[in-house]
Amino acid sequence: AVRPPLPVLGLDVEVPLATGGTVPYAALDYAASAPALRRVWDDVAAYLPSYASVHRGAGHLSRLSTDLYEESRRTVADFLDLPEDRQVVFTRGTTDSLNLLAAALPAGTRVFSFVTEHHASLLPWRRDGLRPVYLPAPRSPRQAVAALREALASAPSGPGLLCVTGASNVTGEIWPVAELTEVAHRHGVRVVLDAAQLAPHRRVSVRELGVDWVALSGHKLYAPFGAGVLAGRTDWLDAAEPYLAGGGASRAVECRGDGTVAVEWHHGPARHEAGSPNVVGVHALASACRALTDAGPDALAAREEVLLDRLRAGLAEVPGVRVLGLFGEDHPRVGVLSFTVEGRRSSDFSAALSAEYGIGVRDGLFCAHPLVRALLGGAGEASARCGASGLSPIDGRSLDAVRVSFGAGTPEEHIERFLTAV
Ligand code: PMP
Repeated sequence: AVRPPLPVLGLDVEVPLATGGTVPYAALDYAASAPALRRVWDDVAAYLPSYASVHRGAGHLSRLSTDLYEESRRTVADFLDLPEDRQVVFTRGTTDSLNLLAAALPAGTRVFSFVTEHHASLLPWRRDGLRPVYLPAPRSPRQAVAALREALASAPSGPGLLCVTGASNVTGEIWPVAELTEVAHRHGVRVVLDAAQLAPHRRVSVRELGVDWVALSGHKLYAPFGAGVLAGRTDWLDAAEPYLAGGGASRAVECRGDGTVAVEWHHGPARHEAGSPNVVGVHALASACRALTDAGPDALAAREEVLLDRLRAGLAEVPGVRVLGLFGEDHPRVGVLSFTVEGRRSSDFSAALSAEYGIGVRDGLFCAHPLVRALLGGAGEASARCGASGLSPIDGRSLDAVRVSFGAGTPEEHIERFLTAV
């Protein structure tokens, strides 16, 4: 039997069934938010009685919290195999991290991304002073690399950034990050990796991938909500205005005789961490990083492959189920998979999984409308354009999809129950 390698909370939560009785909840929506690890719970519970302000107090507990906060930065840097001259900025999550970076980019930066990105990686670049360049949905990793090469060959000089996902939140497909980074760097373009979905499932080494920044969210990494990371180069961030203006980001503030106020901002992470930081959330995130490292990302990935194979083989036996993907059947994926069921509304289907089997999945367009459009083709294109869902009144095809996703806390029984239900 394949047992979950990392104990998570919530496995014994009983949910009422429409048919009567209860059943333990099967969380198969890790891609939205993963359950917290038991070890994270233990670490947070041990810390709660003694938390205090960070970088703002002379008392014993403030000093301990400050140490813990800075230690968490080092833990995350180790987790991401970050070169020493890089920094970890704590944020609220991936969306926050990418918006922070967008706000810090030099004026006129061209930002390249594929239209298949999650909206958090697609939309922050649409702001004054930046020039987003959207590349079409590629049908293979090689096509993605070729499309980037072509776009960069004809791009004018000036600062550039590529934003690319490590693993898709819709298909689970792993993107050729190192190859794309090599092409980008050859043209003097920097790279930010959206690792929201990759980091919970695979080892992410900034050193090996060569990327300039990484963004991730604690709540997808087996910690509760509230903390995220932007890790990477310092120069553009130190040259930019602080993301938030306020205490903690300012080194010195002075009133001038003419009624104006002069500010000297910090350099380093503090510059973009104004306000009292979320030390509990950060501690939880660092605890999850340690747990994943101790469990061994390669062992976790190997175990996940076993469940993924079972899932795919089971779905392949069900007539009318179509698994979505850009890169073909054999392309590596993390434990995230979306599918349509012929003649069924995705929302009805996922509602039935919940009501009749106690299984939690997600349906819809997954904050990646252009990607789902590309995956569904035909009627799906029109639907995703206007955010519609359900079945096409024209040809009865699905206008959205059901997503099942799992991770290191998923018991085999959840996958089996899901397949029985489908
Ligand atoms: N990028 C990807 C690939 C995601 O899956 C998500 C969350 N669905 C995000 C970014 C945004 O993360 P958050 O909601 O934690 O900001």
